Amino acid sequence: MSRYVFVTGGVCSSLGKGVAAASLGNLLESRGFVVRMIKVDPYINVDAGTMNPYQHGEVYVTDDGAETDLDLGNYERFTQSVLSRANSITTGQIYQEVIRKEREGRYLGRTVQVIPHITDEIKRRITAVGEQGNVDITIVEIGGTVGDIESIPFLEAARQFIHDFGKENVLFTHLTLVPTVSEGELKTKPTQHSVSSLREIGIQPDILLCRAERPLDDAMKHKISLFTNVEVEAVISAFNINTTIYEIPIIYSEQGLDRIVIKKLGLADKPKKNKKWKELVYSYIKAKKIVRIAIVGKYTELHDSYKSIYEALYHGGIANVARIELIMIDSEELEKSSDVGGFFKEIDGILIPGGFGQRGIEGMIRASEFARLNKFPYFGICLGMQIMVIEYARNILKYETANSTEFNAKTDYPVISLLEEQADIKSFGGTMRLGKSETILKKNTLIRRLYGKDNIFERHRHRYEVSYKYHTELERAGLVLSGFTPDSNLVESIEWRDHPWGIGVQFHPEFVSKPTAPHPLFSGFIEASLK
Ligand code: GLN
Repeated sequence: MSRYVFVTGGVCSSLGKGVAAASLGNLLESRGFVVRMIKVDPYINVDAGTMNPYQHGEVYVTDDGAETDLDLGNYERFTQSVLSRANSITTGQIYQEVIRKEREGRYLGRTVQVIPHITDEIKRRITAVGEQGNVDITIVEIGGTVGDIESIPFLEAARQFIHDFGKENVLFTHLTLVPTVSEGELKTKPTQHSVSSLREIGIQPDILLCRAERPLDDAMKHKISLFTNVEVEAVISAFNINTTIYEIPIIYSEQGLDRIVIKKLGLADKPKKNKKWKELVYSYIKAKKIVRIAIVGKYTELHDSYKSIYEALYHGGIANVARIELIMIDSEELEKSSDVGGFFKEIDGILIPGGFGQRGIEGMIRASEFARLNKFPYFGICLGMQIMVIEYARNILKYETANSTEFNAKTDYPVISLLEEQADIKSFGGTMRLGKSETILKKNTLIRRLYGKDNIFERHRHRYEVSYKYHTELERAGLVLSGFTPDSNLVESIEWRDHPWGIGVQFHPEFVSKPTAPHPLFSGFIEASLK
């Protein structure tokens, strides 16, 4: 039977609960346990697919095409845990299911209520993951902050796990903030308050992860322990670091987090195997070479919008023992400026990430042209590949008004357009080409060399495609269409001929890159940028 570890958050949001949960998963795996990870998002949206990246950060896509919270990306990068639609739970999904059952008459005339019907559905979704095969520990991260109205049913369901499975099989880890006030003094009061709000709903945390500017000393740990009733050894200091998030499991482990969890859950202790992880973290931290990558996009002011891309670039850095410096370039600024080259003066490579909507497109096209002409390493992902096609059609085929019908529905040269079957879909949620599918790579191409195989499987999230009727023309003009779907209809990847490294892909390789297994396209891109 799986044990359950719940991770809640207190005081305020953005303390890094996702990374904390993922780090715990990482540590427990390093002790040889089979771990599963679940993210609960208390919002009413059915999934993250329709949410604005400005507000919510990146939409992360799983193999089976679920559009989820970006924390699932942290889980995939830190652990081996298998993720699918089942691992991302929202209030919207829970209510949708309960209302469906009610309409089918499955509640036999009873009044349908939050307790027990909503909480039962929440427990059913969580245990469905815990009961897959030989899972030892299921980690459930509850989004939001304790005290939010939305999270109450989830916390109540979590409390019932103690009742249903026994205290010895369920653990509560609470991430909280120990802020600094003037004179640099650390304050424990917010932590005391957030633990008492948890207690009010019947949950006594077993472990506290305390975010603070600097490490907590023993006196501070004792004080927190006394006020919150959490054993002093289970008060873990989660201090700010300026190295890499991948060091966090190591910091937790040095304070005995994995040992404490194993002990409290009554599991048999096994030797720790985290040597490889430690080596890669410290070799990255100590790397001397620096690669400067420009990301040209429109969500550049918000750090989380391109989360998986940043991480995959760091993994490329790990593979090449080089530190990555990211420079965000707002494509609208580029559009307005008369000096495109000025933006890329101290840059080693240019990446254009995915995106939707017309804003900033012209700036991206200029960046792509600049990279092609000046032989700059260029990596176009999804929208970034479509940009390459538009630029090529305009400047090489001389179709000056070439565009995607997403940005100009009436263009004379719709080099990027909707598939006919997509054309009259009106609904927004879940209607894109989503999830993992196959691509066949052409021989003698750069991408084929980087992957080292002909057939690859990558995740997708897009609506528009390179228009079939322009394939031959683009190829004749010199653009290499290097990868196709198995039926040869859809272009999956392209590259520039006579260019050191110019690749565009319709899929999202960033979602599957891990620090322990950097994605070959990101390793290759960083390698080329180093030169
Ligand atoms: N907007 C483009 C499309 O829908 C690209 C999507 C993306 O970059 N994820 O095809």
